[in-house]
Amino acid sequence: MKKNLETLCIHGGWKPTKGEPQQLPIYQSTTFKYDTSEQMARLFDLKDDGYFYTRLANPTNDAVARKIAALEGGVGAVLTSSGQAASFYSVFNICEAGDHFISTNTIYGGTYNLFGVTLKKLGIECTFVDPDWDDERIEACFRPNTKCVFGESISNPGGNILDIERFARLAHAHGVPLIVDNTFPTPINCRPFEWGADIVTHSTTKYMDGHACQVGGVVVDSGNFDWDAYADKFPGLTTPDESYHGLTYTKAFGRMAYCTKLVSQLMRDLGSIPSPQNAFLLNLGLETLHLRVARHCENAQKVAEWLQAQPEVAWINYAGLPGNKYYELACKYMPKGTCGVIAFGLKGTRQDAIRFMDSLEFISIVTHVADARTCVLHPASHTHRQLSDEQLIEAGVAPDLIRLSVGIENVDDIIADLEKAMKK
Ligand SMILES: *Cc1c(COP(=O)(O)O)cnc(C)c1O
Repeated sequence: MKKNLETLCIHGGWKPTKGEPQQLPIYQSTTFKYDTSEQMARLFDLKDDGYFYTRLANPTNDAVARKIAALEGGVGAVLTSSGQAASFYSVFNICEAGDHFISTNTIYGGTYNLFGVTLKKLGIECTFVDPDWDDERIEACFRPNTKCVFGESISNPGGNILDIERFARLAHAHGVPLIVDNTFPTPINCRPFEWGADIVTHSTTKYMDGHACQVGGVVVDSGNFDWDAYADKFPGLTTPDESYHGLTYTKAFGRMAYCTKLVSQLMRDLGSIPSPQNAFLLNLGLETLHLRVARHCENAQKVAEWLQAQPEVAWINYAGLPGNKYYELACKYMPKGTCGVIAFGLKGTRQDAIRFMDSLEFISIVTHVADARTCVLHPASHTHRQLSDEQLIEAGVAPDLIRLSVGIENVDDIIADLEKAMKK
């Protein structure tokens, strides 16, 4: 029976049978026992499925990955120790030194730095494009060695909406997959695979966990991209891997090729796994994801409408507001709502913005976003402080931008706290 998202949030992944625990158990074990040497050898040759070492696979982590894959409508998923690790693995699984890829420039500051600075040191070059550019200008950025296109469904912190169908079309016209970081809308509000994206990543640290108790990430594969059709671009997937006796991922694993390679090469060598305990906490969060996301959006809509009416507010970017530049794209890709994160600027100086934030009562100043508690951040003084004003604007972050992450408290209390601080 095909299940709806709300049911998958509860029943996806772990499927207990007779006498097994109803709640997902925490397999807090580094290793798993076998009876014969032959059994173990077959696992190492990727001939049998099974657990042997938690860096490569763990039953708790796998159950949570299966739940997220089901929510996104993918064929497989791999949990990582952070969203950063997920972004890195998603690209590094198909790019190596000498390769090139394209990313929108309106992405999370950490990802911008990973792509623009750290991957460059590994010999992988990223061209950042403005998602507002026309097709021709974006097409001009593709090169023979371009291997993927990356964007965020809703950008953090700017709140811009990615035209997923358009970017999928541009990527596919050049024989490469589209990777979408779907952290902010979550699969409850947006399912990028339905619009042509090939791979989805998440920082599960945000809404998926939702309680600010674990840092994690996930890479999900739709299984739809035909690597063999562009075999010369993706030799890592389409030619023999000598570290597994000459096995070829696409031949041996079909639609699971990308995920299998990610685990058997990248996890094996780089090892950014979450602890089973963290995967368990993430799973608890996922059980209520559909309830929380709906409330985040309902509250954020009311807060955004209130902010828009305040004389102290210079500008506001929330795609749920009619008249917003991204309103139509939001209606198309996220008809149930976008997310709880609002970007706005106050009239007055940078100092006024800081005084406003310092005057808030229960709304806290934290680096985090997208969990149950309402919080604020000033990216120019916090997360993005290593960027110049010019780079900030290029990354879609106005120097006066305040990022307000609306939680699931009573919305009247949230507005009262904002109002009191604004009057100060
Ligand atoms: C937070 C975030 C990341 C990075 O995730 P971590 O879990 O902090 O490593 C990546 N992308 C987006 C959109 C984010 O909000």
